[in-house]
Amino acid sequence: TIKENKETSKGTAVVIGGGLVGALCVCILASRGYTVTMYEKRSDLRKSAFTRGRSINLALSHRGRKALKLIGLETKVLEGAIPMKGRLLHCKRGNTAAVLYDPVNKQNIYSVGRNYLNQVLLDAAEKYEGTTLLFSHKLQSVNLMENTITLWNEKTNENITVTADLIIGADGAFSCMRNYMQKQLLFSYSQKYIEHGYLELSIPRERGDKMEKNHLHIWPRGTFMMIALPNQDGSWTVTLFMPFEKFHSLTTQAELLTFFSDIFPDSLDLIGKKELVETYFSNEPSPLLSVKCSQFHMGDKFLIIGDAAHAMVPFYGQGMNAGFEDCAYLNKILDQTKDNIKDAIEIFTKTRKDDVHVICDLALYNYTEMCDLVTTRTFKIRKCIDNILLKLMPDTWMPLYHSVSFSHMRYRDCIENRHWQDWILKNVKFACFILLFMILIAIIWEYLSDAIFEQNISYESTVIKQCSLRNQ
Ligand code: FAD
Repeated sequence: TIKENKETSKGTAVVIGGGLVGALCVCILASRGYTVTMYEKRSDLRKSAFTRGRSINLALSHRGRKALKLIGLETKVLEGAIPMKGRLLHCKRGNTAAVLYDPVNKQNIYSVGRNYLNQVLLDAAEKYEGTTLLFSHKLQSVNLMENTITLWNEKTNENITVTADLIIGADGAFSCMRNYMQKQLLFSYSQKYIEHGYLELSIPRERGDKMEKNHLHIWPRGTFMMIALPNQDGSWTVTLFMPFEKFHSLTTQAELLTFFSDIFPDSLDLIGKKELVETYFSNEPSPLLSVKCSQFHMGDKFLIIGDAAHAMVPFYGQGMNAGFEDCAYLNKILDQTKDNIKDAIEIFTKTRKDDVHVICDLALYNYTEMCDLVTTRTFKIRKCIDNILLKLMPDTWMPLYHSVSFSHMRYRDCIENRHWQDWILKNVKFACFILLFMILIAIIWEYLSDAIFEQNISYESTVIKQCSLRNQ
């Protein structure tokens, strides 16, 4: 049993996973007055020099910022982040075009280092009274009947069994906690791997200044793409997203270099041929998956959040943001239920499910947009119309990307809003066609009636002439 800080505690909580979402959750629960113990299977990243895990940097947007603000960390995180005002598209010939995210209100998303963010959160978590952060502790099993969990302490090679008032699984896309919940009756679950994987490359600091600052760079190539996000030290993290088949078809240095000089010519000198070959052949591309669950809670104390509850492909830059929003949302429900944990976790499932399912789907859709649609005329026209309408009616017309990345509108409402906008634009287009058609008919009518009128006149004048001739 977790020891309770009796003087101050509202109750005990356990958080499994000390990644981005787990660490933030510890802070939020501790700030509410819970006695929190966090168990992370890996060693403390603040004490190891090695950068590990997925994506070195991430795009932080409004939802994530709002959650960080709750515990007073927004400013600190943004200090170490780089604003990105839009996408910079690189075409095959090497020329570029900028597409601002928000030309109207000039809002940015932020590139932030995963390790930096995790460190800031762990440092903050540690400072709360009553929190204990335990590393090298791996969740082994969950006993949902007896409300206990068993963890393996890697250092002592011992198992410990613990319980608490609230047990949260923030243990990522391959969550052990979710594995146990999945086996329960009526828990539906789906997991989808896409055919594309990703590989991280890098543009070193020395050549980083050749890249246009404050943008998320994209090399859209129809069915695949490459992106680059800036790092604080001037370097860029480049991520190549491509079908596994394509990754595996490039087996020699020559093939790889020819492929890059044909497809991403302007990136070759920036990444460097030698570095590209080294990184490409010493790393395997990683898979991307999307996970949906029918519920996030079990019994009266188990809850999963973040990637454990809704892993998504990274193309909307919302995985971490949605996970952070989970923490802020849980905080709000605990407020509403006056810390009645059973009610709070039930409400969490009921009211959060649709939203996270929507963002999982949108993230999949955005891959097509980033690879292909961004370069099409229809996309550019729509973006232009959206921006004009946003400027004219900021309270009524919020474009989809805008509502997802720069607002706190529920994800479900973002997509409904988009459907409503599509409906309006479709009908306006239809009305314009009808109007044009009517104008055309009117012009033809005008022309025809003039012609008939002239014909009548000439007929009448012929008749008159003939009559007057006859009279003569
Ligand atoms: P994780 O970060 O996976 O953390 C889980 C933690 O739990 C880990 O520390 C792990 O060691 C620990 N753990 C796992 N199992 C156990 C166990 N059995 N016992 C104890 N501990 C355990 N999101 C964005 O918002 N913006 C982006 O730009 C963005 N870009 C991305 C790019 C890529 C290539 C990828 C793959 C993802 C990206 N994401 C992005 C998504 C984001 O990385 C995740 O949504 C986010 O990391 C989820 O955080 P989490 O804490 O839920 O899970």
